Amino acid sequence: MQNDKLRPLSRGGPHSAQSSAGFSRRDFFRTSAFGAVAGVLSGLSISDFAHAENSSSARTLLKGGTIVTMDPKLGDFVEGDVLIQGSRIAAVGRGLPAGDAKVISVANMIVSPGFIDTHRHLWAGQLRNSSPHGTEYLDLRDKCGPVYRPEDAYIGDTLSILSALDAGITTILDWSHIQNTPEHTDAVIHALQNGGIRAVFGYGWPMPGSIPWWENKQTRFPFDIRRLRKQYFASDDQLLTLALGATSINSAAGWYQTNTDKVRQEWDVAREVGARITVHTSGRGDIQAFSKQIKMGPDTTYVHCRHLSDEEFKLIADSGGTVSLCCSLDTLQGRAIPPIQQSLDHGIRPSLSVDEEMDAPNDMFTQMRLALTLQRGFLGDHEAKPEATFKKLVQVDQDSAPPDKFISARDALDFVTVQGARANGLLDKTGSLTPGKEADIVLLRKDRINVMPINDPVGAIVLAMDTGNVDSVFVGGVPRKLNGQLVGVDLKRVADDAIKSREYLLAKAKLPDPMAVKN
Ligand SMILES: [Zn+2]
Repeated sequence: MQNDKLRPLSRGGPHSAQSSAGFSRRDFFRTSAFGAVAGVLSGLSISDFAHAENSSSARTLLKGGTIVTMDPKLGDFVEGDVLIQGSRIAAVGRGLPAGDAKVISVANMIVSPGFIDTHRHLWAGQLRNSSPHGTEYLDLRDKCGPVYRPEDAYIGDTLSILSALDAGITTILDWSHIQNTPEHTDAVIHALQNGGIRAVFGYGWPMPGSIPWWENKQTRFPFDIRRLRKQYFASDDQLLTLALGATSINSAAGWYQTNTDKVRQEWDVAREVGARITVHTSGRGDIQAFSKQIKMGPDTTYVHCRHLSDEEFKLIADSGGTVSLCCSLDTLQGRAIPPIQQSLDHGIRPSLSVDEEMDAPNDMFTQMRLALTLQRGFLGDHEAKPEATFKKLVQVDQDSAPPDKFISARDALDFVTVQGARANGLLDKTGSLTPGKEADIVLLRKDRINVMPINDPVGAIVLAMDTGNVDSVFVGGVPRKLNGQLVGVDLKRVADDAIKSREYLLAKAKLPDPMAVKN
């Protein structure tokens, strides 16, 4: 892979520390995409917020918006204010005194906590939308993954980070199973650092090609996590925190039952360095077998949870673990209705996640709407209609599920805010507009035709809004999107780099270009 003749993706600076591709990887990571463009925008201006990045005392008052705090002790405000001081929320209420704060009118906005995605494979961003039948993703992942260069992982992550911020996602768990070499690891961490999003880096295994990762001594998984802790994650008081993406608990796709010692090493080293654990699991009986071998704990998020038994959900609940459900991906791939009701029945309020973008939409509005749709549809099928009534079609149509078990729009918003923060181990920092937490905030337009005249604000967010309603996004008080535009991002350059990377990957993997017209 390192001997390939590549065109540089970067157009930046003089080359030093040349890679075999003839350009400086270090230069690429420094100059690509971010930070080159000053934000000069109408309405809200970057200059209104420029102080926030460097000062813990500078204050900004978001005034006169509809405030949805997602903190039950605070409640909501039809018209209220949010005071930001430095990176944190200082106060929320009605008629807050401005003092020396910069006052920004948000009268046309709903002010909400930023959304949180608890599991996404960001590295495949440039392959997005290329699996329209729900099957192509297998070839894309398994053939492109092994030929990814560090710079491909960087641009994949960059695309996904930017679209996440654009859609109001302020925290994301990057489930990064593209650790083909330590240089790939460094590349995606640089992308996360440059992106300005709050992120959990889920250090996963490499895309192995023909060599199983555990036989490839170059990859260093999982023990390189010790280096990462020292080099990038010495402090937890930063936007990036650390998790281990562990081998799947799935006897069909994984191999933990015959490689228990290796899997135990993964969990041991994660706990040794104080990293959370995120793990894919599906298939009945696998969690039960796993629980007899490895201690389950509150430091773990279980992803998908398709076809788990009630006993297995109880094991997760009793351990204090959290879950991440993939409402779009699991249904689009025809695998299962995600177990929203089963989670709730065991006292687990789920978080939601996009998973990957090859065949699934990449915003949390879609995830929230699907969670509502699927939970209520599931109840209708499984609780309102005993088996006998299926034979009477008219009666089936007249039946309805018990509304007292319906989740509400507020539940769906809770899944992508408070529960997302909990599953990412960041509940003390984000997930609600609680004073003292980091100012991870989205401003959602009330005056667009798709939602006006609003009526129920939470209903408007969950039932009708989309990325077009996301006016402004703040991560730790720093504006990442203002007036509908990403701040400090050269989108033309991102697009150019993404196209070049995609063309390289598809050619190298000998896959057809999905842009080719199909008749
Ligand atoms: Zn996944």
